[in-house]
Amino acid sequence: MDGAEQQQEGGEQKLSKKQLNKLAKQQKKQEAKEAASAAQGQQQEQGGDEEDVSAGKYGAYGLIQSGEVKDIKFTELKDIDESMHGQDIWVRGRIHAIRAKGKTCFIVLRSGVYTLQIGVFVTEKVSKAMLKFVSAVSRESIVDIQGTVQKVDAPVESCTQKTVEVHAFELWVVSAAKGQLPLQIEDAMRRAPTEEELANDKENKLATVNLDTRLDNRVLDLRTITSQGIFAVQDGVGYHFRRLLRQRGFREIHTPKIISAASEGGANVFTVSYFKGSAYLAQSPQLYKQIAIAGDFGKVFTIGAVFRAEDSNTHRHMTEFVGLDLEMAFKFHYHEVMLTIGEVLIGIFKSLQAEFADEIAAVNQQYPAEPFKFVEPALVLKFADAIALLRENGVEIGDEDDLSTPQEKFLGKLVRDKYKTDFYILDKFPLAVRPFYTMPDPHNPKYSNSYDMFMRGEEILSGAQRIHDPDFLTERAKHHGIDIGKIQAYIDSFRYGCSPHAGGGIGLERVTMLFLGIHNIRLCSLFPRDPKRLTP
Ligand code: ATP
Repeated sequence: MDGAEQQQEGGEQKLSKKQLNKLAKQQKKQEAKEAASAAQGQQQEQGGDEEDVSAGKYGAYGLIQSGEVKDIKFTELKDIDESMHGQDIWVRGRIHAIRAKGKTCFIVLRSGVYTLQIGVFVTEKVSKAMLKFVSAVSRESIVDIQGTVQKVDAPVESCTQKTVEVHAFELWVVSAAKGQLPLQIEDAMRRAPTEEELANDKENKLATVNLDTRLDNRVLDLRTITSQGIFAVQDGVGYHFRRLLRQRGFREIHTPKIISAASEGGANVFTVSYFKGSAYLAQSPQLYKQIAIAGDFGKVFTIGAVFRAEDSNTHRHMTEFVGLDLEMAFKFHYHEVMLTIGEVLIGIFKSLQAEFADEIAAVNQQYPAEPFKFVEPALVLKFADAIALLRENGVEIGDEDDLSTPQEKFLGKLVRDKYKTDFYILDKFPLAVRPFYTMPDPHNPKYSNSYDMFMRGEEILSGAQRIHDPDFLTERAKHHGIDIGKIQAYIDSFRYGCSPHAGGGIGLERVTMLFLGIHNIRLCSLFPRDPKRLTP
């Protein structure tokens, strides 16, 4: 499907291809007309016949409809530094900020998490008319600029490329931002000011944009350096999860998202109409990845949407998130799996720190956070030992209670102080707080072969050895009051022999949020869904 058709499907008005082509042509004509009249107007103001030394070096391309190939080599903003002093280069980016005064105009050009200062000065190579045209280009427009790289004496504090600027002598508008922006990109990416800073902010220069406005205008909010950093890191999490699991012999699978019975026993599922009946949206790929193990896939993982009909309006819950799930057959002990997951997560953290230093720094400008700390191999604590640590520090909690969110956070702090790590594994949870398919601990039936993993004191993974004996599984399901009829196919899949196995489910947005030390999961979801938000 091409872009025009996609637009048609997504848009409210359905336009034919012919109408779309006509519209595109009209738009192109209009843009060319505007550019010509702007250039003409400037020439007239300049004194009519005075020759424009920049003629043919500025304006708008008009609609790029792939009519011609241009042989221009562009340089990425991130690659521009003082070693390029004196070179003429082309760059493409957005006008992040623009300020004109007299015969000069300064632009901050932005691309991803990088920014570069561009200077336009009236010289023998740059006309007044060009300066005037450039000064009127709106913020957020996409432009092509040709100019000379210049080392600067004092660092350019407002840009990521601090040691250089580019002196432009050619500028073309690729796509103009029209109309008033519903929010300023700079405001949306500003660190929340302290009370003292706010008190001194007489000219309202420290304005920020509230989360709802940002999410309502997500297309602009995604352009902020912060969002660019967040989603680069998130991409890295998914990429390295795949890479490290494949390296260990895991196979990627895809499980159904429309299911006939709730995977975890009934509650918290969205019902959807399904022809004459109804179906559910999967709240995890749990049962299917286990059936894949019974089907001799050995080690599997899947990355996909997970739905939870929970009315949880917290900083870390959404109604749809991306699950990074894995399941693995083991020989004798589920720790084979638990430690593999620990290794994979540590591998992800290391790769993120090695590859995304610029993006992490970009996010930290808006959301300052301590660098994520971890020890290798991963710290493993027994649940009972964690309870003891909490009690030593004044928390009242029963042996078989689940941890509340504040208790989890406090434990995270205690563990960080004692073991110098923001990542750890808690092993052997009380059986009573885990799902029906969890294997009990053979040595103490009050506990189970299950674990959670934590980052900065918040849960990112739940996992366990699963019961692979159908009769025992039936008994445990009944104990939990589950309607056996509804999960019969799942139970039966273990009747013909199945490897012992364990696995876990990780929330992609949680890992992104907690690795970066961000305070709200919605910032780490491209288009978050929560009980109050279903758009954009
Ligand atoms: P929590 O106790 O935080 O509600 P959970 O015990 O319900 O999580 P699981 O069902 O075990 O979580 O899901 C595994 C992982 O999926 C969690 O550790 C978390 O990373 C992520 N996750 C679970 N629920 C949500 C949610 N509503 N929004 C975003 N991520 C979630």
